[in-house]
Amino acid sequence: MRVVLAGGGVIALLTALECVSAGHEVVLADQADIPFSGATSFDRHRVLRALHPGDPAATAAAVAAHHAWIELERLLSTSFYEQVGALTALPAPEAAWELLTAAGSKAEVLGAGELSEEFPHAGFVPGTGAVFEAQAGVLLADRVLTACATRLRWHANAELHPHRKVIGIDADRAEVRLADGGILRGDAVLVAAGPWSRELLAPALSRELVLHRQTMLYCDVPPADAAAWAATPAITSLGSAGGAWLVPPVAGTPLKLSAASACRVVDEIGGATVPSWWREHLIDTFAALIPGFRRDWLVDTRDCHYLARRSTLGPMLAVLGDRVLSYAACGGSSFKFAPLIARSLAARLTGADPVRTGLEPLDRPLVRAGGAHPIRPALRGVS
Ligand SMILES: Cc1cc2nc3c(=O)[nH]c(=O)nc-3n(C[C@H](O)[C@H](O)[C@H](O)COP(=O)(O)OP(=O)(O)OC[C@H]3O[C@@H](n4cnc5c(N)ncnc54)[C@H](O)[C@@H]3O)c2cc1C
Repeated sequence: MRVVLAGGGVIALLTALECVSAGHEVVLADQADIPFSGATSFDRHRVLRALHPGDPAATAAAVAAHHAWIELERLLSTSFYEQVGALTALPAPEAAWELLTAAGSKAEVLGAGELSEEFPHAGFVPGTGAVFEAQAGVLLADRVLTACATRLRWHANAELHPHRKVIGIDADRAEVRLADGGILRGDAVLVAAGPWSRELLAPALSRELVLHRQTMLYCDVPPADAAAWAATPAITSLGSAGGAWLVPPVAGTPLKLSAASACRVVDEIGGATVPSWWREHLIDTFAALIPGFRRDWLVDTRDCHYLARRSTLGPMLAVLGDRVLSYAACGGSSFKFAPLIARSLAARLTGADPVRTGLEPLDRPLVRAGGAHPIRPALRGVS
């Protein structure tokens, strides 16, 4: 089979790898470089933690994802998963411990005293307890993308088309139309164009998708604290009301700081430049949390976008036609799940036995009524 993929982020690249590993041909087109530094997936790090409070199936899926990333490192003979663990401050860490343990993860509860003793530099809200997961950590996202793209570039069954923007999809014919007038035909098509996906979907589908924009700060820690920070797990919640989180400076990367309060809904993709109000918001947030934090720690800032489904705030897989899929809305955790998502998408695209991920949006996709191809009008507009 020949599978056409629109987009070159983590979802499309890993799905392409799955397809070629199963003996299929892939053709992947991105509007920019492959990988593209402006893609949502392209960052220094993405966090993998298993804990999904109140959701045993997603927690078990994240444990499976942990193992899948280790397998992928082996397959690609590259190292990009720093298993430094993950710490999450919670009002009831014991319940989280039970959930993680039931899912087969190694977890430990840390009381407020232990937290402040072991991680005095990290800025946990005083009095908070946390759960520590050992089978978790930091994915070096840009390295993942580069490793996947390099493997595909040299693969006999893969064609990569950087700087070829997709402008329309014909779900009946399983083909995509490019801005340069070209057409890529396949037996199956995946649209995984990240936050730009709405441009390729019919209004009824794109209205289901909400665009989010989030600000991040990148910091160099003072040399005196470097050893302590290097031994710090990913902290997915410091226990603050604004949902502050941080990624430690592993493998030569900077310390990354952000917060749920720095994520907002926007209408349009506005580039990566951080508006000063949001930079100052995060500086104030972390100055109140991390002991000794100063604005001169900052080495970079960046805004990043993602789509989420309106009703669930999570991902959305839509079946647009026979073997034509859209994984447009990624939500905030599709990077860590990407190996599972890719297996599931590749199986659907190539007609292999279904792969159950335990993730509801993947296992029960949104099917367009009657197999209608909602994007035909967009295609007519450009042809
Ligand atoms: C601030 C932030 C923090 C996050 N943290 C985490 C985390 O810790 N853990 C986690 O699991 N997830 C995290 N996520 C979510 C995760 O990064 C995304 O879900 C994931 O990277 C999305 O990958 P993607 O391949 O779908 O999209 P992208 O990476 O955006 O890739 C889409 C690609 O499609 C291309 N494209 C777009 N339009 C076209 C077109 N018309 N024609 C051709 N190509 C096109 C783009 O150029 C791009 O290369 C975070 C997201 C954000 C914003």
